Amino acid sequence: MPQACFVCAAPAADRVLCATCSAALPAVASECCPRCAIDCPGGAVCGRCLIHPPRFDATRAVFRYAFPVSELVQAYKFQARFGVGRYFAERLLAAAAGLQVDAVIPAPLHPHRLASRGFNQSLLLAEPVARALGAPLLRDAVRKVRRVAPQAGLTLEERQRNLRGAFAAQRRFDGMRVLVIDDVMTSGTTLDELAGALKLAGAARVEALVVARTPAGTN
Ligand SMILES: [Zn+2]
Ligand SMILES: [Zn+2]
Repeated sequence: MPQACFVCAAPAADRVLCATCSAALPAVASECCPRCAIDCPGGAVCGRCLIHPPRFDATRAVFRYAFPVSELVQAYKFQARFGVGRYFAERLLAAAAGLQVDAVIPAPLHPHRLASRGFNQSLLLAEPVARALGAPLLRDAVRKVRRVAPQAGLTLEERQRNLRGAFAAQRRFDGMRVLVIDDVMTSGTTLDELAGALKLAGAARVEALVVARTPAGTN
């Protein structure tokens, strides 16, 4: 089915974006913190990760969370534009090249959120990545056990308090290298809490692969 490009409305064949708009999407900074993927000169570990090391070990992000990536994410999550999800998955696959992991985990949604949205946006992104890496996709291995208030508008400390104990591993991960897939990384609090639950269950290393990272200063 021929489509119009999501951004410029030019014919895009069977794609969500035309080649021009796809190439022009804001990429994550070429020099960014290996730990949390925030822009950082020289690709050094950023000040925040040095002072308060997160419980995840590394992050890879594809895009900067800015227009029109933000619009694409919203269309995927809230309007169930699955073509956008497939496009994101393709870009994640390219970014995942060379990763060696023992398991892939989608960032879990609380069951109530899952019921109202109808799908877990991270699960649909994680499936092709797990397949390509040849690692098992452990879809219910970590659950969101506590519903949390929306994070928007909260300070970093409030976000941390809000999410404490929100995730619980449902199995052991002894010595495993786990890759967590999420759509957007904002403050990193969610991934930190998730990594904490995985490490408590024995994980040796937790890496994050996300579609988009908010740039420095917008946390
Ligand atoms: Zn276009
Ligand atoms: Zn960092």
